[in-house]
Amino acid sequence: MAAIKTIGVLTSGGDAPGMNAAIRAVTRSAIFSGFKVKGIYRGYRGLINDEVIELHSQDVSGIMQKGGTILKSARCKEFTTTDGRRQAYDTMRKHGIDALVVIGGDGSLSGARQFASEFNVPIVGLPGTIDNDLYGTDHTIGYDTALNTVMWCVDHIRDTATSHDRLFFIEVMGRNAGFLALNGALASGAEAAIIPEISTEVDQLAELIKYGFKKRKNSSIVLVAESPITGGAMGLAERVRKEFPQFDTRVTILGHLQRGGSPTAQDRILASRMGAAAIEALLEDQRNVMIGDDDERMIYVPFSKAIRKDKPIDHDLLDILKRLTI
Ligand code: ADP
Repeated sequence: MAAIKTIGVLTSGGDAPGMNAAIRAVTRSAIFSGFKVKGIYRGYRGLINDEVIELHSQDVSGIMQKGGTILKSARCKEFTTTDGRRQAYDTMRKHGIDALVVIGGDGSLSGARQFASEFNVPIVGLPGTIDNDLYGTDHTIGYDTALNTVMWCVDHIRDTATSHDRLFFIEVMGRNAGFLALNGALASGAEAAIIPEISTEVDQLAELIKYGFKKRKNSSIVLVAESPITGGAMGLAERVRKEFPQFDTRVTILGHLQRGGSPTAQDRILASRMGAAAIEALLEDQRNVMIGDDDERMIYVPFSKAIRKDKPIDHDLLDILKRLTI
């Protein structure tokens, strides 16, 4: 393997708060270790379309506190084809990029894995997604900020829910993972969380009606993970209107609100540590691994493991939620 001289960095897929802190950490750690750094705009699309600039230390000044990503992000269908990936590889060669740091979610890391194996490119991934659904890391970059946003929104909805004795279904993001819904419910004192991980085991709505609403509380808030498996907030509210018309039901979909905003201290620190760890990984000749946070320790997780799509939810948290909402 030829020595790495230039490292490319890109953000791909759904944006997440903290991505800028990660770009900053990757850029500065790389420069500190003697590498050149090239920033690639719009994820894989920019790699195919040759949107590449050199990044110097001052280019990443003052970005830490900003949400979104200064390198922009995109989804790119072409990259899922061999031709597209070949063009991406040609752009890398043209700019002398020897290795890549890819900041993104499960799709972006799946693409990285494919690209790395096809073209023998050293790639290190950073888990950048608000969904927290990557296997092998306790937390992903952006998750803590999104969780705080969810909590803030639910606190506000609670005021109107109690004033009108309403049952609110609040849909949160998560792409088939219930981390935001479950921990958001715990953080905001919501009555329940309906999550895809246990949807096949129990009829969560039926349980909720049985144990939850009969308690004659003056309002109820239920967090629902967006997913075809849970039926989403709209689907559940529809069911309640048909089966339990006595409830005054409302739906709020938090949507893209959850992606924005200044990252929390926790996300900034995590992104900084992971960005530095990505460069360490390349220096240690690691390839095709994602940086993970294992009990506050930075670890290397093979892409194949990170994208397994079955990161387990902590069932103890579900029990605690049940106990605390009697
Ligand atoms: P995220 O990274 O947030 O999960 P996406 O799932 O949209 O976002 O993936 C981002 C991009 O990664 C896609 O637009 C595509 O270019 C690339 N990608 C995703 N899956 C694959 C795959 N299996 N093979 C090649 N590229 C992929």
